[in-house]
Amino acid sequence: MKKLLALLCLCGLLLTAAACSAPAPADASVPSATPALPSDPDIPPDATPTPEPTPTPVPDPIFDGEIYHIFFHCLIAFPDISYKNGKSPLDEDCVLVDEFKRCLQQLYDNGYALIDINETFNVDADGQVTRAQVRAPAGKKPLILSVDDMVYDPRKLGNGMVDKIILDDEGKIATYTKHKDGTEVISYDNEIIPILESFIDEHPDFSIRGARGTLALTGFAGIFGYRTDRLTENQAEEIAAVGPIVDAVRALGWTFASHGYGHRHSADITEELFLDDTTKWRKEVENLVGPTQIYVYPYGQYVTTGGVKYQTMLDFGFKVMCGVSHEQVWEEQGNALFMTRFGIDGYSLRNYGKRLAPLFDCSTVIDTTYRI
Ligand SMILES: [Zn+2]
Repeated sequence: MKKLLALLCLCGLLLTAAACSAPAPADASVPSATPALPSDPDIPPDATPTPEPTPTPVPDPIFDGEIYHIFFHCLIAFPDISYKNGKSPLDEDCVLVDEFKRCLQQLYDNGYALIDINETFNVDADGQVTRAQVRAPAGKKPLILSVDDMVYDPRKLGNGMVDKIILDDEGKIATYTKHKDGTEVISYDNEIIPILESFIDEHPDFSIRGARGTLALTGFAGIFGYRTDRLTENQAEEIAAVGPIVDAVRALGWTFASHGYGHRHSADITEELFLDDTTKWRKEVENLVGPTQIYVYPYGQYVTTGGVKYQTMLDFGFKVMCGVSHEQVWEEQGNALFMTRFGIDGYSLRNYGKRLAPLFDCSTVIDTTYRI
C-alpha cells in the first residue's frame, strides 16, 4: 500500500509539474508578440499521459524454519543500585540495559525480525486452532518477543528497576524513577519499550508488518507502575493516568497477554481460585488493555488439557497458551495452541549459551562489570 501511495504521489507530482510547464493558453483578444513555437513532432496533439501500470504487490515468502519465542522481564535500569550489595535481587530473572541492547543487535545481525504472535495461528469456524503459515521478507527469520510482569510492584521498587512507564509532552514513551535520595529520573534509554522503539527507528526491517512485542500483564498491583487494582484508594485516577499510555503502546504495535491476575502457580491452585484469578484479570486488566487470545503461564507452570482450568481459559477466549522451556515446542491442542518460550535472563545467559546460540552469542552479550 505504501508503494502504491508513493506511486500515486509521484504521478500527482509529475502531472502537476506537466501542468505548470505547459504554456498558458493564448488569449485570442491579445495579439501575440512572438510567433508560436513549432509543436514537437514526437508528441501527438491532445496526448494524455499513459498511466503507469500499478505493480502487483508480491507477498513475502512463507518462512519454513523454526520460529523462536523469547521473553524478557523488565530491565535492570540502574545496576549501581541493583548490585550495590554485590548480588542483585534481579540478577537471575532480568538482564541489564546493555545486555538487552547487545541481544537486539545480534538478533538483528543474525537475520531475526519481530512478528506479531497473533499472526502465528488460525482459528477456524469450529474453534479449532492451528499454526498459521507465517510470511517474512526473504532472508528474515520471524521472532516472537514477549515481556513479562511490567507491573513495577511497589514491594520491589528501589532495587534497580524503573518505577513506571510515562508519556512525555510529545506523547513519546519514557520511564520515570524516583530514587531513595529524592532524585527523579526520566529516561528514554533504560527499559524495553523505549529501547526497542529506538532500535526499530534505526532498523525498520527488524519489525515485520509493524510488529513489536507482547506484554504479558498481571493485575494484582496494576500495570506499568499504575495502581489500577480494585484495592487502591485512588484507583480511578490511576486508571485515567494509564489509559493514554496503553493507547500509545498499542498504537506502536505492542500487543497484550494475560499473565494471570495474581501470578499464581496455575497447576497447584484450586479450580475455584483459577477461575477467580482469571475473572479478576478480565475485570481489572482486560478492561484497560482490551481482549486478548494469549495466555502466558506464570512461572511457566501450565495446566493439563481437558481439565476444568483449561476449559476456564477456553471459556475466557484464550487460544494460545505459552509455557517456558529451552526447547521450542508448538503443539496444536484442538481448541488452543501451546507454545514454549525461551527466557532471556541472567540465569540463561550464564547457563544456556549453547541453546541460545542460534539467536545470539551469550558470551559476548553477558555483562562482565556487574555480574559476578
Ligand atoms: Zn511472571
